[in-house]
Amino acid sequence: LDSTLINAMNLCLPKADDAHIELVITENTPTNIQGDCQLLEQAVVNLINNALVYSGSPRVELSLTQHNGLATISVKDFGIGIAPEHHPRIFERFYLVHKERSRQLGGTGLGLAIVKHIAQLHHGYAELESTPGKGCTFKINLPL
Ligand code: ATP
Ligand code: MG
Repeated sequence: LDSTLINAMNLCLPKADDAHIELVITENTPTNIQGDCQLLEQAVVNLINNALVYSGSPRVELSLTQHNGLATISVKDFGIGIAPEHHPRIFERFYLVHKERSRQLGGTGLGLAIVKHIAQLHHGYAELESTPGKGCTFKINLPL
């Protein structure tokens, strides 16, 4: 998973540079799980892309940690955040929070549903923590 995080970051670096957003890995614990590297990389890329496009954050932090038998990949931004009323549905297909902006940007509302699905395929789950105005942290938790 640690190489997955690096690969996902490298894929997103050009877009981050263009948008003048700093993309950094703050922690990357060596972690091996049974799974599909390409799908997991796609999941992380979806989260990073969202942070680059929607959050307005000048910095996006990636980390991979281990805790209580779970590996956790976090994508953290310091942007507009997502209000609590959206949290229960945020991982649903076609669910958009910033509808106008998403449509202008060509978003379909599938990215987070795919993240959830990929986490579940690995017997894990995706979650969101957010304080509006302070940013979002999306996590993918996978059993070790
Ligand atoms: P797609 O990923 O299919 O191109 P999308 O990005 O619009 O389309 P999702 O990735 O599922 O769809 O995200 C759903 C919505 O959640 C987005 O349209 C956006 O409004 C909101 N969102 C997602 N990530 C963030 C974030 N980091 N900060 C603020 N809003 C976000
Ligand atoms: Mg998206």
